[in-house]
Amino acid sequence: MKKSGKKLSLTAKITISLILGILAGIALQNYSDFAVSYVKPFGTIYLNLIKMIVVPVVLLSITQGIVSLQDIRKVGSIGLRTVLYYLCTTALAVTVGLLFANVLNVGAGYVLPAGELSYTASEAPSIMDTIVNIFPSNAFEPLVSATMLQVIVLALFLGFGIILAGEKGQTAANVVDSFAEVAFRIMDMIIQLSPIGVFALICPVVAQNGPAVLLPLLKVVLVAYTGYIVHMVVVYSASVKCFAGMSPLKFFREMSRPMLFAFSSASSVGTLPFNMEATERLGVKKEISSFVLPLGATINMDGTAIYQGVCAIFIAQIFGIDLSLTQQLTIILTATLASIGTAGVPGSGMIMLAMVLQSVGLPLEGIALVAGIDRILDMGRTVVNITGDASCAICVDAREKKKEAKRAKK
Ligand code: ASP
Repeated sequence: MKKSGKKLSLTAKITISLILGILAGIALQNYSDFAVSYVKPFGTIYLNLIKMIVVPVVLLSITQGIVSLQDIRKVGSIGLRTVLYYLCTTALAVTVGLLFANVLNVGAGYVLPAGELSYTASEAPSIMDTIVNIFPSNAFEPLVSATMLQVIVLALFLGFGIILAGEKGQTAANVVDSFAEVAFRIMDMIIQLSPIGVFALICPVVAQNGPAVLLPLLKVVLVAYTGYIVHMVVVYSASVKCFAGMSPLKFFREMSRPMLFAFSSASSVGTLPFNMEATERLGVKKEISSFVLPLGATINMDGTAIYQGVCAIFIAQIFGIDLSLTQQLTIILTATLASIGTAGVPGSGMIMLAMVLQSVGLPLEGIALVAGIDRILDMGRTVVNITGDASCAICVDAREKKKEAKRAKK
């Protein structure tokens, strides 16, 4: 009892500091330099600490998850189910984005600002490059540069290696176990600092992007957030209910802390510790959550996919371009792939938007328009991204438990 009381109070603290941060941001609108110079650094320190611990946590927890599954076939079947769930929900998410943007006419009434629009898109990698880049050519480099997909590949090999080494691999398994425990403890310490971190992250965002910047693009924000909310409420509620028999209310209640944190940090990878904790409270076995969630934080981005769908239609509409059905299908395909290639850190979804626009020949300059409000869109899409990961963990876990129960009966 005492423990859950303590946990609740941290959520309450985070909520309060989020509200205080927003209020302080509004108050500091005319002094945004101050907010950026003196408040933001504390948010940066906090994010740095999270980034510091995230690579060890992902490497060790995925490895530990695989080793504890013991059987390579079992890893394979869980992995396949996880990836399938991720792909289907992401494709659904882009469709939701496209649908709402079309029906609500996201670009209607928007007048292109006079003068040249200029935006130099950072080069989005091609699909083949994205695939090749998953495989590291050096075992340590991905850890140093925090290239998460490569870290996952490394963890997969490490886990499989330990299983295949059998008796002789036991020492390695114990070392991984022990270090994983240490990494989780460090993570706990950092989580305790969240109220300060959340305040320092949100305050400068509000101070800088006051309502004035927002107004002309309010419709994009509204349409995107409608998509985010509808997708979460419909798709995730349905999947936890149908596949795991879990009450959606319970799901969202327990998810409030990671969702709040995702909203203020705009980083799926940074939210990982909170997400693991929440799903474990929801009864997901550690061996499942430690495999499904880090993978999801890296490849599953439903919110980003919705955002890309909405932005693609917005840009098409304001430039007066009609998108055919085939083009919209192409957007579904590329946005699903782009969201796999999107890193779970702030702002990366916007870089991958270039890949989606390019695929159907839309002007990249359009990105310049939405760039000003990207942070606001990013906060919401990150919430969807991590909630999707958690819903998958719950469904995969329920499926495994069912299989085990069947086996036990036999
Ligand atoms: N910030 C998002 C995330 O961490 C990625 C994005 O920019 O879409 O999940």
